Amino acid sequence: MGAGRYAPSPSGRMHLGNLLCCLVAWCSAKSAGEDVVLRIEDLDTLRCPRSYADLIEKDLDWLGISPDRGGSRGGPEGPYYQSERSGIYEEYFRRLESMGLIYPCFCSRAQLHAASAPHREDGQVVYPGTCRGLSEQEIARRSAQRPPAWRVKVPDRDISFTDGNLGFTRENLLRDCGDFVVRRFDGVFAYQLAVVVDDALMGVTQVVRGSDLLSSTPRQLYLYELLELPAPQFYHIPLLLASDGRRLSKRDGDVSLETLEEKYSPREIIGKLGYLVGLQDSPRPADPARLAENFAWDRVPKQDILLPEGLF
Ligand code: GLU
Repeated sequence: MGAGRYAPSPSGRMHLGNLLCCLVAWCSAKSAGEDVVLRIEDLDTLRCPRSYADLIEKDLDWLGISPDRGGSRGGPEGPYYQSERSGIYEEYFRRLESMGLIYPCFCSRAQLHAASAPHREDGQVVYPGTCRGLSEQEIARRSAQRPPAWRVKVPDRDISFTDGNLGFTRENLLRDCGDFVVRRFDGVFAYQLAVVVDDALMGVTQVVRGSDLLSSTPRQLYLYELLELPAPQFYHIPLLLASDGRRLSKRDGDVSLETLEEKYSPREIIGKLGYLVGLQDSPRPADPARLAENFAWDRVPKQDILLPEGLF
């Protein structure tokens, strides 16, 4: 049986944007008769303490969209905390290395941004391949000065896929992205590698997440291909923007669950979110199971959603 998932980075209390994503992921999985797995993306252990992860679980339970396995519930594919899975990532990193596709990179972020390399839409630099061809001596010399990050070589080839919500997407990895980091200079594995390995090993067949991650998908599909892992179906959902068009953030107290839980019942919050995402025609209170019954991807908006003033 397939599964959907929640993959939150617990760097704060959940806000409406995170909740919307969880609700749609839950409805999509449940309407297909599938389980939802909770994986805690706490690779950045300083920013993502366990206390926040525990709060996320509590909030999901309160809202009635609990995962079926994962997180502190555990399950057969655990551990479900990325901070406890580095041995697994190491194994897949070694596989890429044995294919001759990994190389150390000594470029600092400042150097990259100062370079005249083109920038991606998300503000990241297209990596110009500066460290691709360093000699063994040069690598030894530079390693003595600073530990490197590790990049995977990408081919000059288009990766295309059909997103279940946003449709056809294509990217030329070399031209539009460049070789990308799979392990950071501090030894921590990068999100791109961890997310692929985890979704595959946790039996995830549908990934529902914010459209800010659409541009990561070609990189992830390339890793699935190299590692011979089964890729899920991707569904990217539009971002929820504050009424003035800003992106919602965990710093926006007014949309954090901390404030919302004092003002509304779970059914009220779920109903308003269901309305925003096209699953019911008014913001009346609703049970998640009821929204899942009405769930269809063609009802979900394709453009970013402005949070109407006064809805919350
Ligand atoms: N952990 C990421 C986040 O909270 C989501 C990653 C994903 O869904 O692939 O933004």
